[in-house]
Amino acid sequence: MRICVPTEVKNNEYRVALTPSGVHDLVLAGHEVYVQKGAGAASSMTDGEYSDAGATLLDDAAEVWARAELLLKVKEPIASEYDYFREDLVLFTYLHLAADRALTERLVADRVTAIAYETVQLPGGGLPLLAPMSEVAGRLAPTMGATTLMRSYGGLGLLMSGVPGTRPARVTIIGGGVAGANAAVIAVGMGADVTIFDTNVQRLRYLDDHFQGRIKTAASNPLDLDRAVTASDLVIGSVLIPGARAPKLVTNDMVSRMRPGSVLVDIAVDQGGCFEDTHPTTHDDPTFLVHGSVFYCVANMPGAVPNTATSALTNATLPYIRQIARLGWTQALRNDPALAAGLNTTAGTVVNPGVASAHELEL
Ligand code: NAD
Repeated sequence: MRICVPTEVKNNEYRVALTPSGVHDLVLAGHEVYVQKGAGAASSMTDGEYSDAGATLLDDAAEVWARAELLLKVKEPIASEYDYFREDLVLFTYLHLAADRALTERLVADRVTAIAYETVQLPGGGLPLLAPMSEVAGRLAPTMGATTLMRSYGGLGLLMSGVPGTRPARVTIIGGGVAGANAAVIAVGMGADVTIFDTNVQRLRYLDDHFQGRIKTAASNPLDLDRAVTASDLVIGSVLIPGARAPKLVTNDMVSRMRPGSVLVDIAVDQGGCFEDTHPTTHDDPTFLVHGSVFYCVANMPGAVPNTATSALTNATLPYIRQIARLGWTQALRNDPALAAGLNTTAGTVVNPGVASAHELEL
């Protein structure tokens, strides 16, 4: 199969859909892989590495899209890419069509087969192509929090671990799923005093067992959360209620009772955020003040570490790419219900129930 990888064009997107190792894997399996020149540069993956891995480098995006039987991207196509759509194209990328009527209509009109990373879903409900980005954002959150706690970044001037004779930072993580558990790994590694809140007691049992006494767990309820948040130096918000906006668990009243210079990192900002005053920020201007506390609410945290994020994404997508390339998309989806759940549009119709209901379409 001809598999093509263009350079991402969305503002501030530094990832690329396939690493050189991914290219090598597909070329070994007998496929042709075309990569746009410079596509990996922002992820610190050079054209030389891609051509050594067996990719054919192409100059411009139009050529990359035109050759593709399977086109791999990271972000949803933007308007300047819509003219590349055609009926025999299979597109595999993050799409988020429920929030994008214009793109949905265009994919349908051009009869593109579009498989969305974010709706690929395992039988148990896990989202294998979203998880790697939650891992990245989760592991980054204590790093950003620790930096922001420094006086020069507006924080109260506290070292996460403390030193002998001083106390470590008190870190509260709200939501102990993929992002929250990964945040805990790093916060514990930095020597902080970590408590994880979750409403799912089964999940707390798992975390308690996993961390072997190095964290505390707490059932999430307003009173205990209020006590923990107001006593914290760093709060990390990582809740998710699938398909819904994040609940506002940290009120401004709680923030007003926190120590000035305390830091709140809202990973859940992409679902509206779980702190009352959260609004999305960018890597260029990541923080703002609320009652003297510093909020960090960057909506695309993995964008800060595209080399890691690109590798993590390829690790997760490659097994599915292999199946589509080997069997063709129809048979690959027949064989794998998880991948089948990824299909959003084909042959001029929306086939994903969530996307259809978001746009009030009949299935
Ligand atoms: P997940 O489903 O693995 O975990 C969410 C956890 O929140 C679950 O354990 C759930 O039980 C818990 N939860 C739900 N309601 C709660 C409540 N009221 N109190 C405490 N816990 C509660 O989700 P995830 O993959 O870890 O993602 C977490 C969030 O991070 C999502 O909003 C996701 O979109 C976001 N995210 C953001 C970025 C970014 O760059 N900002 C990157 C990746 C993921």
